[in-house]
Amino acid sequence: MEKTLAFIKPEAVCNNNSGKIIDSIENAGFQVAALKMVRLSVEQAQKFYEIHKEKAFFDDLVNNISCGSIIAMVLAKENAVDDFRKLMGAANPAAAEEGTLRKLYGESIEKNGIHGADSLENANTEIGFFFNKLEIIE
Ligand code: GDP
Repeated sequence: MEKTLAFIKPEAVCNNNSGKIIDSIENAGFQVAALKMVRLSVEQAQKFYEIHKEKAFFDDLVNNISCGSIIAMVLAKENAVDDFRKLMGAANPAAAEEGTLRKLYGESIEKNGIHGADSLENANTEIGFFFNKLEIIE
């Protein structure tokens, strides 16, 4: 079974949308293979989003993701990476398809409620960032 890495961003945790988001994820056929609530330091957030360090929005992105707790999850399903990107929707909630998590729970392109890895390679790197092997259901 393929695995991807997702996390519920601070704005969605603060707005009490975590339960509804996890419910939608399970109803879409994903198994929650690992889950933890963590608060990233600015340095950890910079490392996680290193790929975006040249972007104009990098500091905003890092500050937003480290301003409160996030809920990180390993999600297992056939075709998990691509299927989760579809369930999540486009980065800008205003442009995201109806019924997607970002359309339902995102507030803006920055505070879009949820993160999902964009490739299998990045999923494996991101899973390793948050979890060790013993914490993940096989
Ligand atoms: P994703 O893979 O769909 O999350 O999108 P990207 O990899 O393009 O961007 C990563 C994250 O950066 C997004 O989820 C947003 O939180 C944030 N982001 C993307 N574009 C912008 C932007 O134009 N402005 C701001 N402030 N944040 C952005």
